[in-house]
Parts: sequence; structure tokens; C-alpha cells
Amino acid sequence: MTRERPCLLVVDDQPTNIRVLYEIFGADHEVLMATGGAQAVELCRRAAPDLVLLDVAMPDLDGYEVCRRLKADPLTREIPVIFVTGSDTAEDETRGLEAGAVDFISKPVNPAVVRARVRTHLTLKSQADQLRNLAFVDGLTGLANRRRFEAALASEYRICARAGETLALVMLDVDCFKQFNDCYGHQAGDDCLRRVAQALLARMRRPRDLVARYGGEEFVCLIPAIEADAVPDFAEELRAAVAAERIPHLASTCAAVVTVSAGHATDRPATGSGPQDLLKRADQALYAAKRAGRDRVVAAPA
Ligand code: GH3
Ligand code: MG
Ligand code: MG
Repeated sequence: MTRERPCLLVVDDQPTNIRVLYEIFGADHEVLMATGGAQAVELCRRAAPDLVLLDVAMPDLDGYEVCRRLKADPLTREIPVIFVTGSDTAEDETRGLEAGAVDFISKPVNPAVVRARVRTHLTLKSQADQLRNLAFVDGLTGLANRRRFEAALASEYRICARAGETLALVMLDVDCFKQFNDCYGHQAGDDCLRRVAQALLARMRRPRDLVARYGGEEFVCLIPAIEADAVPDFAEELRAAVAAERIPHLASTCAAVVTVSAGHATDRPATGSGPQDLLKRADQALYAAKRAGRDRVVAAPA
């Protein structure tokens, strides 16, 4: 989630305590509030705050349990938790750190101290987020990389299964790209891949649509919740978008410009045979498109 201001979640069963922290942070942070542990866990899953200021003693779930649940869930694991507590015994502090907290602040809070600690942990969080994001981005094209694609394929497959939606996959491979490098040089080859990437990216319409660089000169698009009937046209639109860039390729055996071949496959994950099978079918269709002469789209058998 990208926000203009960092987002804090303040959790305390006493509204007065929430108000104190709101006074400190309200001006330059987005502040979410929860008065119970269960509500806090739910809000973290839904709103993904950048940091949680968490009371320990609460009637429903106590702070330790809230922290353990946040750390056990991949969706909320990376959110730093600072305990705000009336107790300052070493034992309680240890318990909190063991539950996964990054820091401890004692009540009544000192505004300068709480500000400084929150600032530190927000900085660390933002650096960690940047590193995590980099690990999922392809360095040459800026598209999602293969690791990110594999993760998205697995999770979209589950989501589509639950929702009864269709999931489509289009694999694309630049035609005669070895000759392109041989003819124009590796640098021009890199530029070509960047332009192909942008042409494909510009065709993604909805937030869940994903285009990734799968490897070398191979790209893959993941399109959840698309009507099965619409997939061939969509794949053709991607093929045409690359050709429309009109990148000269005099050494190509199939056209005078850079083209791609594409294979697409569609599945209904609720009754389907798994994400790896979907990928394999799209890949086989791509291979068929190559054999049939390149610069074309082939559908995998249903
Ligand atoms: P086909 O039409 O059958 O796909 O033939 P092709 O030449 O495109 O396929 P092949 O797999 O023989 O060659 C792929 C070439 O892509 C070889 C490799 O050097 C080049 N390549 C892979 N990654 C990069 C890259 O990041 N930059 C550049 N410039 N070239 C790359
Ligand atoms: Mg190729
Ligand atoms: Mg290839």
C-alpha cells in the first residue's frame, strides 16, 4: 500500500490513552485506532498500517497474543509492533520481545521518546519494504520478476478458486531475438526488451492483472477473473502491441520488425488441475506458435 503519510495503528482499550497518542502523531501521520485485540488484528489485515502501538493489558486478546497472531500471518508479519505498557519489568519486556515486538515504551508516554522511537522504526520499516520490493522487480525492465510472478500465480489461483473465477495466462517470447542481438548488439537488445515490456505493461487494465519478465526474452501475463471468451482477443492485443512498436528487425525470419509469439491457457481453479499445469499448458501453446511460424497466438487445448 502506498501512502503519503506513514500510517500508525494505535491499540488501547482506554480511549484516553489513544487520544494521548493521537495528539502526538495526528498532525503528520495517518492514525488508525482500535480498542480491542481482535479488532486490531482485523485492521492490520485490512489496512496494512506501517507500525502498531500496542497496549499489553486488554480484556479480549492481550497485546502478546495480538502480536503473536500478527507475526504468524504472512499478510501482517512485516508490520513492526511497539508495546506501550504500564509495566516496566524485565520479565514483561522479554515476553513482549519474544512475541515479536521491536520495542517497548512505558506509560505514561513521554512525547519526545515515543516520537523518536516511532520515527526510527518507521525508517527501518520503509528500508525493509524497499528491499523486499527490489527482490521482486526485474532489474532490466522494471517489471515484476519471475519470483513475484510465481507468488502471484499461486495466490491468484487460490483466490480464483474461492471466488469461482477464471484465471488466464499468456506466455510470450520475442521471435528471433538471438539474431536481433547478433545484428544490432546486446545494448540494443536490452533497449528492445525494455520497449516490449512497456508495450505489454500498457495493456494491463485492472489492478490484479500482472505482467512479468519470466526470463531472458520471455514474458508472462496473469489475468484473473477474465471471461474465458475474451482471452484469445486479449492475447492477440498483446502480440499486436509489440508489433506496433515497429522496432526494426532485419534479421528476423518472420517480419521486418520485432514480434512475439504467444501461447495462452485458461483454467477454472475451483475445478482445475493446479497452477503449474496452467503454466505448462500456456508454455506448450507458445511452443506450438513458434513451430507454426512465429508472430502468432495459439490457444492451449481446453
Ligand atoms: P525464437 O524465435 O525461437 O524464440 O528464437 P530466439 O533467438 O528468440 O530464441 P533463443 O532462445 O535461441 O535466444 C534467445 C536470446 O535472447 C539469446 C540471449 O542472448 C538473448 N537474451 C536473453 N536475455 C537477454 C537480455 O537480458 N538482454 C539481451 N540483449 N539479450 C538477451
Ligand atoms: Mg525467443
Ligand atoms: Mg526464449
